[in-house]
Formats: sequence, C-alpha cells, structure tokens
Amino acid sequence: MEKINLGNTGIEVSKLCFGSLTMTPFQANLSVKEGAYLIEYAYNRGINFIDTAEIYENYEYIKEALKGKKREDYHIATKTYAYTKEMAKESLDLALKELGTDYIDIFLLHEQESIHTVRGHFEAIEYFLKEKEKGKIKAIGISTHRVSGAKAVGEVKELDVIHPIINKYGIGIQDGTVEDMLRELEIIHNMGKGIYGMKPLGGGHLIKDVENAFNFVRNIPYIDSIAIGMQSIDEIDANIHLLEKGFIPDDLKTNLRTKKRKLIVADYCLGCGNCVKRCKQHGIEVIDGLATPNENCILCGYCAKVCPEFCIKVI
Ligand code: SF4
Ligand code: SF4
Repeated sequence: MEKINLGNTGIEVSKLCFGSLTMTPFQANLSVKEGAYLIEYAYNRGINFIDTAEIYENYEYIKEALKGKKREDYHIATKTYAYTKEMAKESLDLALKELGTDYIDIFLLHEQESIHTVRGHFEAIEYFLKEKEKGKIKAIGISTHRVSGAKAVGEVKELDVIHPIINKYGIGIQDGTVEDMLRELEIIHNMGKGIYGMKPLGGGHLIKDVENAFNFVRNIPYIDSIAIGMQSIDEIDANIHLLEKGFIPDDLKTNLRTKKRKLIVADYCLGCGNCVKRCKQHGIEVIDGLATPNENCILCGYCAKVCPEFCIKVI
C-alpha cells in the first residue's frame, strides 16, 4: 500500500488508516483475539496506521495485534478529552502502558469545536509539547466535526495534525457544508499540517453508494490518509481495493451486501426526538431519553442526517 508523509510530521503513514472503534464492545463487539487478528491482517496488507481513542477502550486489541512487530513499522493515533496537565499526563501514561509502547505517534484532543475549546485545552497541549520534546509523542493535533475546529488548527502553530469528518454530503459536519470544510482543509494542508479524514461513508449511511462516496474523499489531493472502520476481512480487502483501484470487485461486494447490518445509537444521545420526526417508517422511538431503533427500521440512514450529535450509525 502507498505510504505518504502526514504533513510535515515526519510520520509516514499508509493512505488507509485502520479505524478501530467498530470492533469494540460499543459497536461490533469483537473479542480481543478477533479484533487483534483483523488489525494484524490489515498490517500484513500494508496498513501501518491505526486510529483509536482512550474512550474506545480498545488499547489491548492493538497491543495484542502488534506484539512482536518493530515499533517504527506502525503508527498509532489516539485521542483524549484531557484539558489539564494532570489529565493529559494520565491519558498519556495510560496509552503508553496499555498499548505497551514507549511513544505515541499522534496524540489528538478529541472532538474540538473551535479556537475557544482549543484554548480551553491549552494546559493539556503544553504538557504534550513537553512530552513531545522528550520523544514520548511525535505529533499533536485534534479531531473535529466542525469547520471552526479545522480553522483553529490553522491558527494554533502547536497543532501538527487534524482528523476531520469529511464525506461527499457533509454528513456529520455540525457547522457548515462539505465545501466549507474543504476550504479550511486546503489552507491547513498548505501550512504543512497532516490531515487524515474520518467517516468517508458518513458513519455507514453512504454504504449503498460506497464507491462514489469513498472516491470523493480519495480524490481530495490534500487529504493524506483516510480512516475507515473495518470489522471483517472482507471489509479490509474491499477498502484496500477501493483505495488502490477505486472500486470493489463483485465477489467482495456480494459478501458485503449479505452482511447483516444494524442501526446503533451512541449513549450521548440527547433524546431530542429529531430522528423520530424524520423517520417515515416509525423505525425509532425515544425511550427513557435515548433514541432506540425498532423492527420497522429499514436502515435507510435518513435519521442520521438530522441528529445534532451525530450519534446514529449503521454498522
Ligand atoms: S435508518 Fe431510516 S428507517 Fe431506520 S430509524 Fe433511521 S430513518 Fe427510520
Ligand atoms: S436526533 Fe440524535 S440526539 Fe436526537 S434523539 Fe435522535 S439520536 Fe438522539
């Protein structure tokens, strides 16, 4: 698989990044052994870049998968909600210990919204900068669902990397259009910052148009790498084919079509009911403050587009 420099970080990553959230108990609920097998399979096919987060609680899957591999041969990006020095230290110590490594390639502040939230996390950034000098972190950045988050990366010289949501229809971008996001990302790229996109299939909602959706992000010249969730060998093979050739072979497509999918709602659902109003199938209801899909759901994905928190996914 083609490797590329992640901006000016000096980190050379595969164009495809293994999104590891999908394998966790929050989504597909694979065992550590099953999850580790997938990461190792992807690694053997050239994917040397793994995206995780403290909140995913899957460090042991990654540690298990990469046991015995040379440390410089793979790159890990993780994320934290830390905003104080103490919290940042706790997050870094936990990641180093649970991943069984001496350093983290990319440490991101999770779900940053704007320059204001970045400023509010500056104590954590300063701590990470000191650890970067010691070699315990190679690059610092943010993940974001907002155009204003992307803008903040351009304004803060200490941030090397951004992990923004980006897909054909801007599903999940909370404060603008896909064009707005692309404008900011191009500026950031020209400043030498690394960009690896998330959710090219809009959290599973563009799965029916997978090739067009993936190729949209693949063809953006300033996106260095694309993170995508993978929870089976077929999905890994299909994504590698998509990245390298722009399409999925028919046999793999058939396998993926027959895979049983489901709708999941994250526990940070606000219970606002937007999804219920949007659903013409009566496929989702709010029960005890949490949106809950039922047997009428046909997995069309329309409800996700009106969720202010981007908590609905098809997996
Ligand atoms: S995916 Fe479609 S059918 Fe299912 S709850 Fe959402 S809008 Fe309704
Ligand atoms: S739209 Fe989103 S936040 Fe609102 S009830 Fe539905 S899932 Fe929850």
